[in-house]
Amino acid sequence: MSKRDYYEVLGLSKGASKDEIKKAYRKLSKQYHPDINKEPGADEKFKEIAEAYEILSDDQKRARYDQYGHTDPNQGFGGADFGGGFGGFEDIFDTFFGGGSRRRRDPNAPRQGADLQYTMTLEFEEAVFGKETEIEIPREETCNTCDGSGAKPGTKPETCSHCNGSGQLSVEQNTPFGRIVNRRVCHHCSGTGKFIKEKCSTCGGAGKVKKRKKINVKIPAGVDDGQQLRVSGQGEPGINGGPSGDLYVVFRVRAHEFFERDGDDVYCEMPLTFAQAALGDDIEVPTLHGKVKLKIPAGTQTGTKFRLRNKGVPNVRGYGQGDQHIHVRVITPTKLSSRQKELLREFTSLRGQESPDEQHDSFFAKVKRAFKGE
Ligand SMILES: [Zn+2]
Ligand SMILES: [Zn+2]
Repeated sequence: MSKRDYYEVLGLSKGASKDEIKKAYRKLSKQYHPDINKEPGADEKFKEIAEAYEILSDDQKRARYDQYGHTDPNQGFGGADFGGGFGGFEDIFDTFFGGGSRRRRDPNAPRQGADLQYTMTLEFEEAVFGKETEIEIPREETCNTCDGSGAKPGTKPETCSHCNGSGQLSVEQNTPFGRIVNRRVCHHCSGTGKFIKEKCSTCGGAGKVKKRKKINVKIPAGVDDGQQLRVSGQGEPGINGGPSGDLYVVFRVRAHEFFERDGDDVYCEMPLTFAQAALGDDIEVPTLHGKVKLKIPAGTQTGTKFRLRNKGVPNVRGYGQGDQHIHVRVITPTKLSSRQKELLREFTSLRGQESPDEQHDSFFAKVKRAFKGE
């Protein structure tokens, strides 16, 4: 029989973290410990789990295993069997045509449940300050009536007699390349390797039931559009006692009518009247953290930028807080009264007599040169 993939043994995916490996090992070794579990085959499984853990918990051994699988020339794991037997032929065939790492999937192996994804739309401020909320997700849960076996309480699923519990059927074919063995999912048991004589009435033999589950989610302050939060262990339940999957909450953040966000910084545009810009003023600027006074110096131009430190968004990882950037826009007055027009004309004629202001002068000079260049 070919050796099972170590990740599969622990119900993990290939990129599993050290923590996940440790957790899976602890859980499974408890489950299959020969002192606790008297079911036939538990002993075998316990040894398999221990071996998988020994390799995957060791960085060097794991790296070699990731590269060579069970066929590592230096480890003597056995792997492909060239002895010509039936099993050997299958293994070689897999190595040549299946990329080498394809292993027979034992339907009884503990596997991690599927991950779930939930999209949550947040108001701009909710993303900035975070919040705690309850969400309801539809997910499958282990059936309580049968504890996930799918069999009527008091009965047990039997091994499928068509595939002998492997969940797969082999079909032999003769081709010009020799004998080829095709494996297909056993249609008698749908690949589960089990046959349930008397089905559990609650779940109809599936071992799982669909439920709407309420989950409390703590959204950290500073999350941004497109970011996701992993809620560990809240995905679909594991298979054959494997660990549950995770729930990923993906955030969509609504735009704000005044603030614009870029990372932890926020941007806004403040309108100033012509008089405020020319004479200077103390104005109040709205920020995410309340009003803030800002001194506008006399002679402020459109496009001038001001920065309010630490008035931006809290960093989602806790590294301080962003700034608020203010772009000033001077609004040209419209709908002037005749008195206002008169004053402005007077203002213009006065302006012609005084010494021109340097910034304006150079700017207007540039425009004049541009016209001459035509
Ligand atoms: Zn079967
Ligand atoms: Zn059930």
